[in-house]
Amino acid sequence: MSKILIIEDEEAIADLERDYLELSGFEVEVEYRGDTGLKRSLEEQFDLIILDLMLPEIDGFEICQRIREEKNIPIMMVSAKKEDIDKIRGLGLGADDYITKPFSPSELVARVKAHLERYNRLVGSGMPKNEIIEIRGLKIDKTARRVWVNGEEKTFTTKEYDLLTFLAENPNRVFKKDELFREIWDMESVGDIATVTVHIKKIREKIEFNSAKPQYIETIWGIGYRFKI
Ligand code: CA
Repeated sequence: MSKILIIEDEEAIADLERDYLELSGFEVEVEYRGDTGLKRSLEEQFDLIILDLMLPEIDGFEICQRIREEKNIPIMMVSAKKEDIDKIRGLGLGADDYITKPFSPSELVARVKAHLERYNRLVGSGMPKNEIIEIRGLKIDKTARRVWVNGEEKTFTTKEYDLLTFLAENPNRVFKKDELFREIWDMESVGDIATVTVHIKKIREKIEFNSAKPQYIETIWGIGYRFKI
């Protein structure tokens, strides 16, 4: 079942959207503030986001931009003002659709369905091959920044994902911990090679059947790590 997040501060509108989408068979979550909505968008797995423009704490412009930096799920922006819609388009924030309030709920549902179908086609077979890394039971979708282990989706922090993807893209090569640190963390970062060790441990907990006998990321004692292929 597709999961949708509505970020909308007007409760009546949020409720209306939720009711119609739930009736159409979607699983729906609502956040009434920009900051909490953004947090959940980045940390949880949603298939589509309906994003109001004017929101408390963080507005829809910024939320759209921040989500787009990490995910390519469909974002539908909602606004009361036609001028704002033009502005959003002009900014090229990466939203997939724009709806002006008031809108008919059935139109909203129809558009949601169309975007989900398009997105699922994209994530499925239509994706360019080099955007998907598949090694045994591990599948990394680089376009969507999503990871599955034996068909089950796992959630990674940004750095865990970057580190895993970097290793998987350079298999059978031994990397020293300080090389990995330089590669994944920028120079200003607080931390050292112990950060790499901690992140490898977290990644293993998510991708390995038995962390003590890793199938993917092998420890090369005294040196660093190697992704086995
Ligand atoms: Ca609003």
